[in-house]
Formats: sequence, C-alpha cells, structure tokens
Amino acid sequence: MPLDIDKLRLDFPILAQTVNGQPLVYLDNAATTQKPQSVLDALQHYYQHQNANVHRAAHALSGQATQEFEDARTKVATFINAPDSKQVIWTRGATEAINLVAYSFGMPHLKAGDEILLSTMEHHANIVPWQQVAAATGASIKVIPLTEHAELDLAAAADLFSERTKLLAVSQVSNALGVINPIKELITMAKAVDAITLIDGAQAVGHLPVDVQALDCDFYVFSGHKMFGPTGIGVLYGKRELLEKMPPWQTGGEMIKHVSFAQTTFSELPFKFEAGTPNIAGAIGLGAAIDYISGLDRNAVAAHEHQLMQQLVAGLSALPEVHIIGRPQAGAVSFIMDDVHPQDMATLLDMQGIAVRTGHHCAMPLMQALGLPQGTLRASIAFYNTPHDITALLTGIDKAREFF
Ligand code: PMP
Repeated sequence: MPLDIDKLRLDFPILAQTVNGQPLVYLDNAATTQKPQSVLDALQHYYQHQNANVHRAAHALSGQATQEFEDARTKVATFINAPDSKQVIWTRGATEAINLVAYSFGMPHLKAGDEILLSTMEHHANIVPWQQVAAATGASIKVIPLTEHAELDLAAAADLFSERTKLLAVSQVSNALGVINPIKELITMAKAVDAITLIDGAQAVGHLPVDVQALDCDFYVFSGHKMFGPTGIGVLYGKRELLEKMPPWQTGGEMIKHVSFAQTTFSELPFKFEAGTPNIAGAIGLGAAIDYISGLDRNAVAAHEHQLMQQLVAGLSALPEVHIIGRPQAGAVSFIMDDVHPQDMATLLDMQGIAVRTGHHCAMPLMQALGLPQGTLRASIAFYNTPHDITALLTGIDKAREFF
C-alpha cells in the first residue's frame, strides 16, 4: 500500500508552519530531519515524569530512567541488527563515534608505514580525526578517487589496498551527492588484507535498512538527528572483540568499576566508553524515533522516496541552466546553476519558504576534486516530503532565475 503522506505529515508539527509567509518546504533533511510528535512527547515525558540519573537505581525514578535508557539501546541494536546491545555505545553523534574509534583504536594501533584508506567523498567528520591519528602515529592517508560519474572508483580502490592498509573508513551514502557507495565490495577488499572497517552511516540510517552483521563491518556510526531523533545523541556499533580490547577514550564517572588513587578499573561494555552522565533524554528520544520508523511500511517508504528522487532528478535535469552532480540515489541531490552562486539561489528559495543547503556540505576535498570551489545547492528529502514539495522547489528555482 502506498503511504498516506498527508496523514504522516500530521505527525510532524513543524512541517505545518509558514516560513517567510509561505508554507514550509523542507528539503534540508541531510542536515537534520524533523521529529515526529512521538519523539517530542518522549522527551517531554522523560523530563516531566522520569528525570533522574541512570545506573544509580537507589530510587524509583532512577530505575525507570535506567530502564528506558537501556530499552532504547536495545531498540538501536535491533534496528541495525547488532548481535548484542552491549555493542551499542552512546555518543553525541557520528562525529564523536568516529573520534572514539580514531583515538581508542587508531592511536594505539597504527604506526609509521601503516595506511588509512578513506574516500574522496568523506564528510570532514570522517577525515579530520584520521588526519590527527596520522599526524600522531606516522601512518599515512590514502584516498579512493572518483570515476567520471563522481562515484567511487572500485578498480582504483582495489589497487590502493595492500598489507599496509590497516583501516578503511568510508560513508555508506554521501551527504553531498546522495550516492550509495559500494561498501560491501570495499569491506570485502579490506578483509582480504585484514584491515579494520568503519562505515559512516550518518546518511544511510534514515533511508536504507542497515544490517551490521550482513555488512560484516567492524564499526558502524550514525547520528540520531538524521533519523528523526533528537540532536546530541548518536551511536557507535563495534565488533565485540575489538571493543573489548580498546582502551576507554574519555574517563571519569559512570565508566569505572573501582577507583583508588593508586589505580582504576573500568566497567564492562558498553559503559567503559560512556564517561559522565549521558544524554538520557536523547537516547530515549532516539528509541522513540526507532519505534516510529519501525511502525512504517519500510517498502512503501523506500518506494515513495525513490519516486521523489526520480521526480527531483528529472525536474532539475529539465531546467536549462541546472547541472546535477554525479548520479544521486538516496536522500540528496546536489546541483549547480550556470552564472548563479548557490548561496544567492538559496536565499531566493528561502524567501519562498523553501529550505535547501548550499556550500561544501562539510566535504571540501570532494568539492575540490569536482572543481566546485563555490560548492553546490543540495536538496535532500525524507519520507514526509511530497511530490508537491519537489514541484515547489522546481517552480521556486524558475521564479528565482528571473532575478538573475
Ligand atoms: N558523516 C556524514 C556522511 C554526515 O552527513 C554527517 C552530518 N552531516 C556526519 C558524518 C556528522 O554527523 P554529526 O554532525 O551529527 O556528528
């Protein structure tokens, strides 16, 4: 059955508002997604009825908060098919999860002569932490180049893998181009040389089913706010044997077994990586987002998003001065326009209530590789977008062109 989008949109109160006097057309979902009422209610309910610190269950509220917090961890584990919720570590987001792996796995394990393999398409969050590791350890960074269609060049990737490759860190879906990367093939290549694999799923979780066991990656990271959950909460999934061996990254309360001035022993997984009071409400809110998504017909969602992407790509391609970058498949479409600066177009669209993003999309090396120093305009969808939203964008671009 097709989705009843009009009905689903009622679950997202923010979408009903006007912006600059126009009905909001929200096409900036790759930056952050909107939250359904059930997520807003879960946050409110926690603070109104259960607010207490977790894992210190000397009283009823703390017990309830702990239960909800740990239930949310289990929901995440089920959502990504992790074998055990102990392998789900709460972080502030994808960025912090990558930093955790960089500092706790990369720093102690890598040395001069080792190589970290990234792709040209990575978000800065999956570049800069590795540069820090490389600078501190003497390891070097290699980069999988693009094909002429702005996709990852698998043949070139095959040549880059060697015994020196110790870690592959790539995104499943590009935030800048909406391309789905061939991560299964890349993970297989990495395994052939015993390299550890980290998949940045920040742009995947909101659009594709994710099964970390089927992928057989070592680490998988994402942010709650890109999948209809709150900001400030994210996830690191890791293979148990790796997580067990990795030292804690941040230290302090909540992650210890015993402390004396002579020595400290650390908690078991997942707590040894969760120093300090966590984002309890955020985790519970993310659990509510997973409940919400799980209640949707995922096939119908995929079919609807596919249709929106096709409409967007066809509509933009039909506009004479518009050039789509690469071959977008999921979530986002990046484009440039002849003689129009992306920021100027975005401002004119914003005046019409249409929210898109412009610039380098935290992927400056990608923009350099594509020869796009001004960056691009990016329209990014979620399942609550409608064919009308896409038409509004296309008409909005047409209207805006009259200014130039
Ligand atoms: N990776 C990708 C592909 C992203 O799109 C983003 C967010 N734009 C991140 C990592 C970082 O996510 P966060 O800022 O939520 O930590």
